Amino acid sequence: MHLYQNQNLKIYNSLSGEKELFTPIHEGNVGMYVCGPTVYSNVHLGNCRTFISFDLIYRYLKHLGYKVRYVRNITDVGHIVDDEDEGEDKIAKKARIDQIEPMEVVQKYTVDFHQILELFNNLAPSIEPTATGHIIEQIEIIKQIIDNGFAYIVNGSVYFDVIKYNKTNNYGILSGRNIEDMIANTRELDGQSDKKNPQDFALWKNAEPQHIMRWPSPWGDGFPGWHLECTAMSTKYLGERFDIHGGGMDLKFPHHECEIAQNEACTGHSPVNYWMHANMLTLNGKKMAKSTGNNILPRELFSGENNILSKAFSPAVARFFILQAHYRSILDFSDDAILASEKGFNRLMEAIDNLNEIEPAATSSINIQSWKQACYDAMNDDFNSPILIAQLFEAVRYINLLKEFKETLNAADLESFKKAIKAFVFDILGLQNEKLSADENNKLEGVINMLIGMRNEARANKNFQLSDQIRDQLLTLGIQLKDGKEGTSFTVS
Ligand code: AMP
Ligand code: ZN
Repeated sequence: MHLYQNQNLKIYNSLSGEKELFTPIHEGNVGMYVCGPTVYSNVHLGNCRTFISFDLIYRYLKHLGYKVRYVRNITDVGHIVDDEDEGEDKIAKKARIDQIEPMEVVQKYTVDFHQILELFNNLAPSIEPTATGHIIEQIEIIKQIIDNGFAYIVNGSVYFDVIKYNKTNNYGILSGRNIEDMIANTRELDGQSDKKNPQDFALWKNAEPQHIMRWPSPWGDGFPGWHLECTAMSTKYLGERFDIHGGGMDLKFPHHECEIAQNEACTGHSPVNYWMHANMLTLNGKKMAKSTGNNILPRELFSGENNILSKAFSPAVARFFILQAHYRSILDFSDDAILASEKGFNRLMEAIDNLNEIEPAATSSINIQSWKQACYDAMNDDFNSPILIAQLFEAVRYINLLKEFKETLNAADLESFKKAIKAFVFDILGLQNEKLSADENNKLEGVINMLIGMRNEARANKNFQLSDQIRDQLLTLGIQLKDGKEGTSFTVS
């Protein structure tokens, strides 16, 4: 018996605009594809929010007992600046500016991406394919789309014929956009473009002689269009039809709309049963984005080195902050908001530490099964992590009452309570209790005392610049020195 057999998971499907009961194509198995990063710069906290949202989804599906194949790609070619069809490839541009190979850019930021997600305690996907590793598959799909009459070739480039496709299919089915409006709102082509219509998008682009990222194809040397890689890789690893496709809300149009069009034009049917879109992390009310500079980097958050931060925050606190909002709500980042999350996080972790002190009683005065089902109900309702967290704070209240002997649990209920808390907090939300071990604590204490000694020495030598620097830098790390009669002590927050 698997948990999914008695928990009714509902997922909000962006395609229907409704919460739908989740039924995978193959019982007990889930195929999930999530658009990965374009690796031309460090991931910002906004990108991380989307990947943490899908990590929560992945973790919960696994917890329910599904065998999940989670595919998340790396975009290492084809993504043009401003998401356009004409212009420079984002990776090639960065390589030109830094005077390194495009694949050096890709390697550098792929490594950064992995390191950051690991710090956030994200699980690795089952497969992480790259666009450059699937050029042959992309070419095969283009050939099929041409054969089916939905694409045309001009000067070594291949374009998807949106107008023709829309005659038999619905371009706009996901985003709700209407082709007539799109046509009315776009400028006429200026004669520079090879496209028949501005709505058409590139499947393959002819490479100019100076373009370094290039591959041979039936239409000449070139490179694939951005939307095609996800169609090729999802089909290859999950099949022509699979369960869940996810990504950030900003990818709904044109990226995901184009993916549907490509799949339908190629296979004659829609590729995905449940489309899921994670909402944006904003800063000062505006979307965090690489291009505008309106963003904060995870490492800045972990070190506190950003003017908008009063201190450093741990990855688990940042993850908790993100999961306190539902994945479909906009979340605005601010120092105050994450400070409040930190308080809540510490309260939760403290309560979990206290769990071990609770002794079983002869009878139970709390209905643990109904509390536990309320936690499942929250997650079954389209992965509602804020409601789950509210239930966990209800558990904190129980723990405090149990500690004071105002409530009781028998041995079996206490065991079930402990197991459930740990499953929801650590396995499903993916939080980590960051308390140091006794040995690590001793080492930290030793290092701080050494710095206090150096600060005293600096003060004795009237080197106040250095002594202040030691005090201030410790403070930014959350370590506060207090000078008293007995010497200097410290507190760590
Ligand atoms: P990119 O590398 O720009 O293709 O983005 C990688 C992922 O991050 C995509 O799924 C985007 O939708 C997502 N993303 C970009 N900006 C934000 C943001 N401000 N908040 C949440 N997700 C974002
Ligand atoms: Zn994609």
